[in-house]
Amino acid sequence: MKNKNSLWYPYIQMKTMSLPLKVSSAKGVHLHLEDGTKLIDAISSWWCVIHGYNHTEINKAAKQQLAKMAHVMLGGLTHEPAEQLSNKLVKITPPGLNHVFFSDSGSVGVDVALKMSMQYWQNLNKPKKNKFLALRQAYHGDTIGAMSVGDPVEGMHKLFSGLLPKNYFLPAPKGGFNALAKTVNADLVKLETFLANHHPKLAGFILEPILQAAGGFNIYSPLYLKGARKLCDKYNVLLIFDEVATGFGRTGKLFAAEHAQVTPDIMILGKGLTAGYLGMAATLTTSKIFTSFLDDSPVKAFMHGPTFMGNPLACAIALKSIEIFEKQNYLEKISCIETQLKSGLSQISHPQIKDIRVIGATGVIEVKDKAILSSAQEFARQNGVWLRPFDNYLYTMPPYIISNNKLTKIIDTIQTFFKNKKII
Ligand SMILES: *Cc1c(COP(=O)(O)O)cnc(C)c1O
Repeated sequence: MKNKNSLWYPYIQMKTMSLPLKVSSAKGVHLHLEDGTKLIDAISSWWCVIHGYNHTEINKAAKQQLAKMAHVMLGGLTHEPAEQLSNKLVKITPPGLNHVFFSDSGSVGVDVALKMSMQYWQNLNKPKKNKFLALRQAYHGDTIGAMSVGDPVEGMHKLFSGLLPKNYFLPAPKGGFNALAKTVNADLVKLETFLANHHPKLAGFILEPILQAAGGFNIYSPLYLKGARKLCDKYNVLLIFDEVATGFGRTGKLFAAEHAQVTPDIMILGKGLTAGYLGMAATLTTSKIFTSFLDDSPVKAFMHGPTFMGNPLACAIALKSIEIFEKQNYLEKISCIETQLKSGLSQISHPQIKDIRVIGATGVIEVKDKAILSSAQEFARQNGVWLRPFDNYLYTMPPYIISNNKLTKIIDTIQTFFKNKKII
């Protein structure tokens, strides 16, 4: 008994949890369970396994690096994989992001961004600018700093809202990707009013560009990002894009910022960065921010350095992942996934469905009452598909290597699930 219950699982009431499925191996888009069944992973292990599992070329790159060294510290030492990866990230991200700080997970990458922003203003002798503006429906991670910019009312961390550093929130932008100009303008008016009143205490405005992921899959207009860029410049507030979920193609562009052709002051990458092989994040910033840390005295230096920062194995894997993404024209694959998701999911109907949205390799069905989804995971499993709905959302974010047929199987499974649900 004692040993059986030692593992504490994430985001779950351990008392009532049903037994998790035991995976013995995985290959391509498939999870191979211990009992011999095979499931198509429709959600890429929390969206990060972008090339599928057990990828021959990435395995090879990892083995090559492993034969040299798995890890060395980045304090006082450096190595080829970290140098190459930072240069590569600067090359592929929006122009102006010239400096890369590595850490070990998306949440920590967000915390690094918040700390960097606060210190930037300290370095400029404006220490009162130390609060953040964020959006409702935002999810930025599970550490204290990241929780403090997540939706404080409906988010999964609402229990902590009185205990965390106090930040500010505006409603999530409305109207979808193709929102009418007047809808976007109404949201930008709210933003401007807020910034005009509060900018002396604001260090930055953090948001997930285009797609707010774990906080409710809200998709919004690139015009909002363009407007936010202008207003942040006008009121001297840093603009921070959390691209942990959206980066590496998930919304149809390599980075979601490209939809708006906007360069944020700080951008965070994670999840797909290492194709699901190892935990890693990167916080990128502009020379404007970086140079504020330069001084003859050490007090302005950035006092941060996770033990596993710039882990060589993770860097080598990320470099290979990006190389494959570029060489094999993944944006084209993602565009095909988008087309198929749009035509497939739009045919699903049920009175409980509130909205169906698709962007890039992300398809979401929002229902009115989440009770209807309680059996979705088990139904999908019986049909050979791994889905994991949460709250009112049943979604798919498949690996980009998924074939037409396998994606059809995911869509059919979702369709049949709703077809079988009695209309109440
Ligand atoms: C997943 C996620 C994070 C947190 O990343 P972890 O690696 O789980 O710490 C932060 N921001 C966004 C937008 C995410 O989707």
